[in-house]
Amino acid sequence: MPNSILKKKLQEIEHTGSLIGAPDWLIEELTNPKHVFKMQFRATVGGQLKLLTITRIHHRNPYPTGVQPFKGGIRYHPGANEKLLTVLAMDMTEKCALAGLHFGGAKGGIAFDPTPCSELELRRITEQMTMELLKVNLPHPDIDVPGPDVGTNPTVMYWMYNKIAETNHYRNISDVAATVTGKPVEHNGVHGRENATSHGLLIQLKEFLRISKMKLGSRPTVAIQGFGNVGSNIALLTQDERFNFLNVVAVSDRQTGLYSSQGLDVISIKKWYDKNGTLAGFPSADKISNQELLELPVDILVPAAIENQITKENALRIKAPLISEGANEAITTEANNMLADRGTTVIPGIVANVGGVVVSYFEWRKNRGERKHKVDFKEEEEWVQKKLTDIMHGVIHDVYTKSEEKKCSIPQAAHMLAMEIMRGELRMKHSYTN
Ligand code: NAD
Repeated sequence: MPNSILKKKLQEIEHTGSLIGAPDWLIEELTNPKHVFKMQFRATVGGQLKLLTITRIHHRNPYPTGVQPFKGGIRYHPGANEKLLTVLAMDMTEKCALAGLHFGGAKGGIAFDPTPCSELELRRITEQMTMELLKVNLPHPDIDVPGPDVGTNPTVMYWMYNKIAETNHYRNISDVAATVTGKPVEHNGVHGRENATSHGLLIQLKEFLRISKMKLGSRPTVAIQGFGNVGSNIALLTQDERFNFLNVVAVSDRQTGLYSSQGLDVISIKKWYDKNGTLAGFPSADKISNQELLELPVDILVPAAIENQITKENALRIKAPLISEGANEAITTEANNMLADRGTTVIPGIVANVGGVVVSYFEWRKNRGERKHKVDFKEEEEWVQKKLTDIMHGVIHDVYTKSEEKKCSIPQAAHMLAMEIMRGELRMKHSYTN
């Protein structure tokens, strides 16, 4: 599976290149990562000593590295191997290009299942990983800045930051703070980072419905796959008056899906999940499987779990007319083509979930000393929300306009636009003339 996900990503890059007349040097750059780091260490996982492998991929940085760093999440998941992380780093390069963030694309992680770990084990693993990365001068505020992803969260980011601070590797406080984003607000984080991906997705979805005039039900129903950072925050934000025109009828975690045709009480579900660590057993909803959730007759489907959830096997059974991809690579290339052929609208992950890296960019800039919000969090919250809104709107406007101009699907338009931006930047960086 990871092998084929990379193969498909490379084919997608080549196909997009053929559509925009990309020169060979560009395809060569975009299909090969710039740096691949690998290191191993032993750690206790659920009481057992295991050999763990860290992988960190730097895909491409169209901007001057050393001033503008590579940026991308750290994943703790059994599937976090080199091929998958390479694809996710490639997605990051595209996202940053579309959002106008001067970052290169990166991704990293450890291939293991963190669920049997105690908090102390998880902290040790994070600290050991940080020490291994520091041996090759990563993270670094101007070279490589990690953030949270599947299996990691603000606490894990805080552990990394704290370990880097303790080692005295960087002397300057602003350097230390800017090595990691997604930190808790009270520890040099930025207001609004924790739900930024979900917030950005909903801001953009609302704008998309306005500009596309897409006809959905009077209170569109939504099914969300995944109840982690991205999925649960989307559900919770629909309680905000800006987004309560949406009715969440289904949610799921790895094991369990919950459904109510009338709409779910997402606040009670979140309380249940925080207390029990699972959706299983929640009393006031029907139980459904993850497959059933994906195939529900809802207006909007939001896959917000992991990659490869909508494939050629189930694409034709998807009934939602609109999919907003919260998770990266949730829809395979074949499935995307099948969905486009039958008229399903897809807002791809490189467009829909860009809010996370956008607010990480604000955090990095704040840590670099460009904005100071030490006291007035309210002012910071308003500033972040306004800027996030501007960028999320800008991205969907650009991509939607391109899809109309080229008469192509939104995912295809997004890949073309991202590649054109990267071509411009990389041409300047390497003094190519074509
Ligand atoms: P998370 O670890 O907080 O949550 C993942 C959720 O998916 C959990 O509820 C888990 O139970 C569920 N899940 C895992 N495997 C599953 C499976 N096989 N089937 C169904 N559900 C499954 O992760 P997250 O941070 O919410 O990330 C979710 C997705 O969003 C990932 O693709 C990630 O790359 C992407 N993303 C996250 C961020 C961010 O800021 N956290 C930013 C951009 C994109």
